[in-house]
Amino acid sequence: MNKSIFIFCLFFYSKILFSQNEVYNYARKIVDTMASESMHGRGYVNSGDKIAANYIKTEFEKFGLKTFNNNYYQHFNFDINTFPNTPYLSTDYISINWFPAENYLVSATSPPIKKLKNLEIVWCDSTTICSENNFKHFQKQKFKNKWIIIDKKGIVDKEILKTLEYIKTNPYKAHGIGVIQENKLTWTCSQNVSSFPTIELLVNDSTRKLIDKTKKCYVAYQAESKFIPNYQSQNVIGYVQGSIYPDSFFVFSAHYDHLGQMGENIYFPGANDNASGCAMLLNLAKYYSKPENKPKYSILFIAFGAEEVGLVGSKYFTENPLVPLNKIKFVLNMDIMGTGEEGITVVNGSIFKNEFDKLKQINTDNNYIKEIKIRGKAANSDHYYFSEKGVKAFFIYTMGGIKAYHDIYDKAETLPLNEFENLFKLITKFSESLQN
Ligand SMILES: [Zn+2]
Repeated sequence: MNKSIFIFCLFFYSKILFSQNEVYNYARKIVDTMASESMHGRGYVNSGDKIAANYIKTEFEKFGLKTFNNNYYQHFNFDINTFPNTPYLSTDYISINWFPAENYLVSATSPPIKKLKNLEIVWCDSTTICSENNFKHFQKQKFKNKWIIIDKKGIVDKEILKTLEYIKTNPYKAHGIGVIQENKLTWTCSQNVSSFPTIELLVNDSTRKLIDKTKKCYVAYQAESKFIPNYQSQNVIGYVQGSIYPDSFFVFSAHYDHLGQMGENIYFPGANDNASGCAMLLNLAKYYSKPENKPKYSILFIAFGAEEVGLVGSKYFTENPLVPLNKIKFVLNMDIMGTGEEGITVVNGSIFKNEFDKLKQINTDNNYIKEIKIRGKAANSDHYYFSEKGVKAFFIYTMGGIKAYHDIYDKAETLPLNEFENLFKLITKFSESLQN
């Protein structure tokens, strides 16, 4: 082959390859960026939420999405408990080095605690809780200046809640509670502060066997949380005008916030939850903003804030909608889009059965995803307040693959995005079928 023909072929081939992988490549870039340290876990320490919102806004601008009131942001406020300072924990009942978010978690509701030392441990395990006599003995103790550790092994959740309630309302207040978990640590966000510090401790079975609960043992602890009342965050909203029905709206949504930081150096990347959903949202915005893909309905692209805090951003939007809610024909909310080995689940699928059947038919005809599971109503993501207000809404999440969730292991490096392009095709075909 002549050299110039070879170069031409190479160029042509790489062009084809690029267009095939364009959706994936762009998704990869978004997940890598949004789950990186520079976004601080997209929470409320170091303004992670604002950095993430600005990133999405910049992408919206690139695609030329239209704004409402000349602004991509819709602001709202809420209270939030944050952890800007690195917590500290040491115990002498076993020689474990405690690392925040790795083998222990400060509960999201924890009040600020400065340097507590020499707090005696009171054990509470299945032998305490499952025998009436033992529990009576436990109740007679004075907990003042003590730290109670509940070992969950062999105790049902209902009993644990009852015990926690008892401990918290006991007049001889303990200084704090530790709860031993076996499997994994799962963090969260809180708008409230408890009067009581609670920590979760990850201890496996073989380590647990080494604990001598008869020995007098102590805890030292520090976690300076910072409660911020009335924090201002934002939804990021843009739209593409419809070619035939500009006053009818189709909504794509995904929350961009995550859990933020626990101390100065530890952040929760939230690659699957929900940088992956943002990657789908931005891919859709990029696609529908091209003149050749102009939709029939107007399409709203909403990156919701403060989902992890309790669906705060989406609730605010449904109470202060930028278009009349009765003009919204359908909402497709995407949260956790990074795997898919076992297919996807559609929340509200059994409520909007016609639309679910349509989605399923498109998938069967084109063989995109292994399985589409149906689910009923659930208040587990940003679709919720829409369907509560009578707007048809689905929430789609992927299943299978990596199990990291609300922990420091939900990272970009290990997120496969293996069904991402198929999902993109399924979603665009579905949205187009609803606009006919
Ligand atoms: Zn989420």
